[in-house]
Amino acid sequence: MNHRLEKLKSWMKEKNVDVTFLTSSENVFYLSGYYTDPHERLLALVVFQEQEPFLVCPEMEIYNAKRAGWEQEIIGFSDTDHPWELIQTSIHKRIKRVSKVAIEKEHLNVERYEKMLELFPQASFVSAEGKLQLLRMIKDAKELKLIEEACALADYAVEFGCSEIKEGKTELDVLNALEYALKQKGVTEMSFSTMVLTGANAASPHGNPGETKIKKGDLVLFDLGVVVDRYCSDITRTVAYGDINDKQKEIYDTVLKAQIAAIEASKPGTTAAEVDMTARKIISDAGYGDYFPHRLGHGLGISVHEYPSMTSTNQLRLEEGMVYTIEPGIYVPDVAGVRIEDDVYITADGVKVLTKFPKELQIIK
Ligand code: MN
Ligand code: MN
Repeated sequence: MNHRLEKLKSWMKEKNVDVTFLTSSENVFYLSGYYTDPHERLLALVVFQEQEPFLVCPEMEIYNAKRAGWEQEIIGFSDTDHPWELIQTSIHKRIKRVSKVAIEKEHLNVERYEKMLELFPQASFVSAEGKLQLLRMIKDAKELKLIEEACALADYAVEFGCSEIKEGKTELDVLNALEYALKQKGVTEMSFSTMVLTGANAASPHGNPGETKIKKGDLVLFDLGVVVDRYCSDITRTVAYGDINDKQKEIYDTVLKAQIAAIEASKPGTTAAEVDMTARKIISDAGYGDYFPHRLGHGLGISVHEYPSMTSTNQLRLEEGMVYTIEPGIYVPDVAGVRIEDDVYITADGVKVLTKFPKELQIIK
């Protein structure tokens, strides 16, 4: 935990930032080890170049924060306290002059920003987000282990979901069964709302599962992820229920070829753009370029979408420790929707695939 704070502090010194004021549950967790969803209440981690950081949370959460391993000061506030006065006092106890404050500009809401302007009328505000994204982008061994566990459970969920595909079952039937099976294994949270989509519904990259019945000759798309100790996995598999037609098969084979090529292109020193373009070229050459409307993938960790963003324009070079998804898709309305998604980890000299459910077309009889 502490070396993460030390890295943030060196950045603050370099940029002359006096105070970093973090409010997102994810970044507070990354630096403090303490996770909570405070709903509308304030949660903050306040960091200084030299002085001790402090945590701000609802009074009733102090015990949990300590139990999570936070040993430094905690400012608890009740529902009738004014946390901003307590925060101002605690900051001024540590430093007298606040000229530059780093905040999460994409997270801090306008009301809280206005409070901070009142407290520090002389200060300028810069974004802390870029630095946090870069820190979180490189996973340590412990983080990798949790992601691997989350991936193993995601593999299990897809396998279980496939075993539930039967004539007359709806998307929601299969979805409920696989989530129930996960809960029996102790899973308490999914990375996002699970998708089980079939037929025409699968031809939308972000469809909503519903009462549609699965029919022979349909493709069934699973997109799901499991959270293990705050770390997410994210897998997509598309399987066939009964025999599918040649067009569906051609689309499947094209996505698979693109997905495997992008995994093979993933290694330290390659740019995110090169990896995206490797898959995109295969799909375009097969004539489906217009039907692959999203980036190749995204980083994942504490958040299901984080850095690196695997787009066709991102010149960021891959490095050991990065974890991201590779998920090309082809969505032809009324014909087929196919996406295949793995989570991968960049090693010193290549790539390790963390999700392992088979990718050769699974035909469920
Ligand atoms: Mn996904
Ligand atoms: Mn994804």
